Amino acid sequence: ICTKKSFKYVIIGGGVAAGYAAREFVKQGLKPGELAIISKEAVAPYERPALSKAYLLPEGAARLPGFHVCVGSGGEKLLPEWYAEKGIELLLSTEIVKADLHSKILTSETGGMFEFETLIIATGSRVLRLTEFGVQGADAKNIFYLREISDADKLVETIRAKKKGKVVIVGGGYIGLEVGAAMRINKFDVTIVSRDPWCMRQLFTKEIAAFYEGYYANKGVKIIKGTPAVGFDADTNGEVKAVKLKDGRVLQADIVVVGVGAKPLTDLFKGQVDEEKHGILTDGMFETDVPGVYAVGDVATFPMKLYNDMRRVEHVDHARKSAEHAVRAIRASEEGKCIDEYDYVPYFYSRAFNLSWTFYGDNVGDPLLFGDRDPTSRKPKFGAAWIKDGRIVGTFLEGGTDEENKAIARVARAQPSAEHLETLKREGSTLDISM
Ligand code: FAD
Repeated sequence: ICTKKSFKYVIIGGGVAAGYAAREFVKQGLKPGELAIISKEAVAPYERPALSKAYLLPEGAARLPGFHVCVGSGGEKLLPEWYAEKGIELLLSTEIVKADLHSKILTSETGGMFEFETLIIATGSRVLRLTEFGVQGADAKNIFYLREISDADKLVETIRAKKKGKVVIVGGGYIGLEVGAAMRINKFDVTIVSRDPWCMRQLFTKEIAAFYEGYYANKGVKIIKGTPAVGFDADTNGEVKAVKLKDGRVLQADIVVVGVGAKPLTDLFKGQVDEEKHGILTDGMFETDVPGVYAVGDVATFPMKLYNDMRRVEHVDHARKSAEHAVRAIRASEEGKCIDEYDYVPYFYSRAFNLSWTFYGDNVGDPLLFGDRDPTSRKPKFGAAWIKDGRIVGTFLEGGTDEENKAIARVARAQPSAEHLETLKREGSTLDISM
């Protein structure tokens, strides 16, 4: 039997952006029955970054309902009951397999039909799998990826089963570094393998990476750089037992975790909306070229006012803020009003062991480093400023306080002349800056 439900607003995807959009709808005044969130995950929207951090810890691990949105930004926890109370229909474990933007109907894999007046696309990204690149043996058991809570649950189960075994992490980006730390805290023998010459190459300079690599080495994590994993061996049960590297080395492994990147989930909308930079093209209100259809979070390619170009951002802070902005724009347009265009300063962070860094702005131009980058220091603390055309366009801080992080965010927004590095020094007043 074909069922069709109609809603004024539908959000497809039930991740970070969906949760923050729901809260903003309620803030703006939502009537019961107006909004539905359709998600293929089985749980209400949660703060995804927890999955590679506190979710994997052996003690005091983060578990739902502890990290449902919007705790990540210091807000009220939106439990499933919150959605029910507000009359928001949370359609979980429901995958949309067809989206007809012209007739404004979404169809689920079980044939359910959902009609909308306004749609917010918040499908996020999926992980890139080594099987897609034809890596030999990459379908062996106990090779894990991390995107959704169901992935993290499978990894946690195997952490318990393979206590103190050997873990190989493929990928030296933030997922690799965070999961590598969590596995070490779980007392595994950990090796991180990166094809790049240094870790977090997309953001870190070689010098910044050297600090983290040194710190990890002191924690007993091995890092092999400059050679990719090219194959896997499995035992007779089909479970992974070794990782083969391009340089000929073979690493024993009970568990492999792969973090080699993600791809925005835009397939459902191909040919129906304009695309750019692998994302769905939007204006500064996150509306696509199809009126009434918005895209937010990882999938949106939007005008980055500060840099006067089009960007797609795969970070949690943007997922939250773009969702809120789109909802405000939707409500304003219904009232015939206008709001300002999205004006974002990129912000990204990571946490592992006792380390915590923040980055604001753009990592282009020449980086200038300051502070104590000795990985053996009791409390290392350092920063970097990226300078382009005489202006500070990007700022980075390891071990900063909230106040200091706010200060470097202001610098990345204001883009002062590089001479104003003095200001940076002053604002990060407790930093021992030796330039
Ligand atoms: P998601 O949060 O990915 O949500 C998308 C949702 O859509 C999912 O629930 C998915 O199941 C659902 N969906 C997709 N297709 C369909 C469909 N066809 N039908 C129904 N539902 C569908 N960023 C940081 O800035 N800092 C960090 O420390 C950090 N750590 C991270 C750690 C991990 C393990 C991961 C995976 C990401 C991390 N990120 C981090 C990135 C950040 O989580 C994402 O940028 C953010 O979640 C994007 O939000 P989103 O709502 O666009 O997509």
